[in-house]
Formats: sequence, C-alpha cells, structure tokens
Amino acid sequence: MSKSEFSEFSSDTARSGALIECKNVHKIYKSSQNIAVHALKGLDLRVDQGEFLAIQGVSGSGKSTLLNILGFLDVPTEGKYIFRDQDTYAFQDRKTSRLRNNEIGFILQDFALLEDESALYNVCLPLLMTKEKRNSIKRKAENILQSVGLEHKQLSLVKNLSGGEKQRVAIARALVIKPSILLADEPTGALDSETGNEIMALLKSLNEKGGVTIIAVTHNDQVASYANRRLVMRDGMFA
Ligand code: ADP
Ligand code: MG
Repeated sequence: MSKSEFSEFSSDTARSGALIECKNVHKIYKSSQNIAVHALKGLDLRVDQGEFLAIQGVSGSGKSTLLNILGFLDVPTEGKYIFRDQDTYAFQDRKTSRLRNNEIGFILQDFALLEDESALYNVCLPLLMTKEKRNSIKRKAENILQSVGLEHKQLSLVKNLSGGEKQRVAIARALVIKPSILLADEPTGALDSETGNEIMALLKSLNEKGGVTIIAVTHNDQVASYANRRLVMRDGMFA
C-alpha cells in the first residue's frame, strides 16, 4: 500500500487530527538475567502534524526508548501507540516496516552514514530499494542535498566531510523518502555548539517551510529552544 492509500485507509469519521498518540505507554526491558528495567512508566503524548517538539531529559530517562517506539523500531510492553488514528498494536510486520520505510525519517547522534560512499549515494540509498528509476532518484537526492546546503559536496566521500556536513547528509537521507515525521535522537550530540545551532536552525526551517513534523530528543536546553513545544522526561515519565 502506498502512503496515499494508507491515508485514505485511515480517514474514518473518528479522526482526532493527531499524527501520533501514546496512551499509557509502558516499556519494560528484560535482561538476560531476567532483571526488569521499567524504562517507560505510563506515558501519554499527542503530536499533531506540523509540530516541532523537543523531548528533554537526563541520560537514562527513557528518551531513546520512546523515540524507538514512535519510529516502529520497538513496541510498547503495555499501552497504545496510535499512528494516524490507528492502533498500531494489531499491525503485522509488513505494515510496520512499510510505515518505517515510508513515513519515518531517523536522524541519530553518530550520523549512521556509509563513510566510504559519497554524500549523494548515501542520500539515494533509501530509494534504491524502491522501484523508482535511477535518474529520478538521483535528481531527488540532488535537490534535497541542495536544500540542506550541500550542493557543492555531493560527490565528496562522507569520511572527508565535517561533523556538521555529515549531519546535513543524514538529514537529507532522512528527508528523501518524504517522511511525515522526522525523529532526531540527540542530533547535535556529536557536534560543537555552533555547528549544533546550525543544524537545529536547519531543522527549524525544514519544519516551518517544508511542514515536516519533527520530534528531537536532547538533554541540552539551548538545542531544545529551537522547538515550538518542549517536554521533559524524568525516570520514564513526563515531568
Ligand atoms: P535515554 O535515551 O534517555 O538516555 P534510554 O531510553 O536509552 O534513555 O534508557 C532508559 C532506561 O532503559 C535506562 O535505564 C537504560 O539502561 C534502559 N535500557 C535501554 N535500552 C535497553 C535494553 N535494550 N535492554 C535493557 N535496558 C535498556
Ligand atoms: Mg538516548
């Protein structure tokens, strides 16, 4: 099912208008010795289309656990995750991987790029698995690299780019699928503060001009100040 088909599928009369909702979400990790870690303790969250939300909190407060659930990389132990008004609990694997591939863009602290490949190749990558024609993929990737200010570095190998440039490539790679939501886990964590501010300003303009919904996790106040709404997590709950 394509994204537009999916939207049609979800346009029932009970629509709330929220892009995502969490209701009483718990996550309990079980270690190999069967020791339980209660990482999320009954979270409620609603995020509407077009929001730019920052989630703050100290290390270990559950931020990445929440982001992984929102990005369909993990599932709640208890509670509901509702995406476009559909309870994702009943989704089969194929449907969650389709959502993950078509609706979610991920940006990570350490960029997670192929260092020995060009910026352009990295940005093309998510589309190379689709049936789209190579020429069209290349054109899209070039346009997106331009929109993140990297048109002059398209053919550079990632390993020769600065940290800020690498994060721009990662943002372009996340955007090339035209996601409904961009999930950023400590996107400036590996950058100096000036470069971090540039990356946050870029995310803000992508949100304002491009309309992409963004949730950025950070432990840094200055980084969070770019968002329109801020929530703080403490010990698996919103403070
Ligand atoms: P944050 O991103 O805010 O630093 P995390 O979501 O990574 O926090 O972790 C929340 C809690 O869950 C921590 O106590 C962490 O040690 C634990 N945790 C995270 N991932 C796992 C895992 N795969 N197995 C067991 N415990 C985990
Ligand atoms: Mg984390």
